[in-house]
Amino acid sequence: MESKRCFANRFDDYKGSLLAGQCKEAVTPLVTATIDRIVKEVPVLGGGEAASGLGCCQGGLYGGVAGVAYMLYHVAQCPHFAQARDSYLRAAKQLVDACVRYEEDWGEGDADTRAAFLLGGAGVYAVATLVYHALGRADWARLLGKFRELCELCVPITFLECGSDELFVGRAGYLCAALVLKQKLGLEVLTPAQIKSVCQAILESGKQYALRKRKPVPLMYSYYGTEYLGAAHGLSSILQMLLSYYEYLPPADQELVWQSVDFLMDQEQNCNWPPELGEMIERENELVHWCHGAPGIAYMFAKAYLVSKKPQYLDSCIRCGELTWQKGLLKKGPGICHGVAGSAYVFLLLYRLTGNSKYMYRAQRFAEFLFTEEFKAGSRALENVYSLFEGFSGTMCFLVDLLQPNQAEFPLFSVFV
Ligand SMILES: [Zn+2]
Repeated sequence: MESKRCFANRFDDYKGSLLAGQCKEAVTPLVTATIDRIVKEVPVLGGGEAASGLGCCQGGLYGGVAGVAYMLYHVAQCPHFAQARDSYLRAAKQLVDACVRYEEDWGEGDADTRAAFLLGGAGVYAVATLVYHALGRADWARLLGKFRELCELCVPITFLECGSDELFVGRAGYLCAALVLKQKLGLEVLTPAQIKSVCQAILESGKQYALRKRKPVPLMYSYYGTEYLGAAHGLSSILQMLLSYYEYLPPADQELVWQSVDFLMDQEQNCNWPPELGEMIERENELVHWCHGAPGIAYMFAKAYLVSKKPQYLDSCIRCGELTWQKGLLKKGPGICHGVAGSAYVFLLLYRLTGNSKYMYRAQRFAEFLFTEEFKAGSRALENVYSLFEGFSGTMCFLVDLLQPNQAEFPLFSVFV
């Protein structure tokens, strides 16, 4: 059923065959043409705002040009785009060079975003490291050093007043960036002592908050005073990161993590979770986004399943996928944060977890929908057409991952490391 937030999903569900039209011959030219357009329009690479200077370096990986650099890096790694690899990596280097310069000139004065993953310095240095590494340049290690230096900033329990633990600017984000680097460079970028100190700070902060506010859960957090549950600023991505570094946690703290995971599981209301702890979901108006709701919380359950092998976590993840199939054709654009590609990534996640082709089919249908007149006419205009999280850069990552489903993962948010 159509609603204010989503288009009606009129597609038949899987009947045993995948869509033939989404092979590499069809998708590759589409991706190439869109990237050409992004490269022409994006500031720094010769777009209209080039003269306005460094403004485009703000916004980090989420909304700034650093996110475009990540997309170019990601596409360059895919064998189907081998011919364009060099030009994509060169463009990515131009973008990260501008962002690193911005960080060095301005970012280091901004204590709130220096160690931030999606909104600031840590993310910029992480992606710059990846781009330099892919280009075979020896100076990638210098950029990695800059990333490592930020670790000590996020160890003090309240290093940010707004909330020190979430994904965009807090400690979970820093750990997530380190996970991405470990995965792509094939080396542990932080020492065990560094990892333990950040995890301990997250645990201590969550215990203190839960105790002070008398929460019925051993670990709880807030961001700007709100107790979010979802992937963007909430409990689920914080727990996901603790599970990603599970072997670094003392057994007693591992137990607290599982209690908190189970608490979050119990907050489900009909295949979805409210943005904030304790809210009641209004069915007509519910958020089914990566940032808030089931399509983002799914990754925490996937990680919990991979670590514990307990089927109830996979079941929760599957229920997230069912709601996303019904309500995931979002009107807020093509992006990964609260758009159609973000919904479709849940199906690619479930495909990797279960091997069931039904999920591949559902991802293909959502990709198809992105190119319909109904979507183009009915979706909200984008503020930032090229950004990684709201714009087409994230959509390109998704289309490329559709061609390599066995490696597909939500950008910068892997549960398979
Ligand atoms: Zn969002």
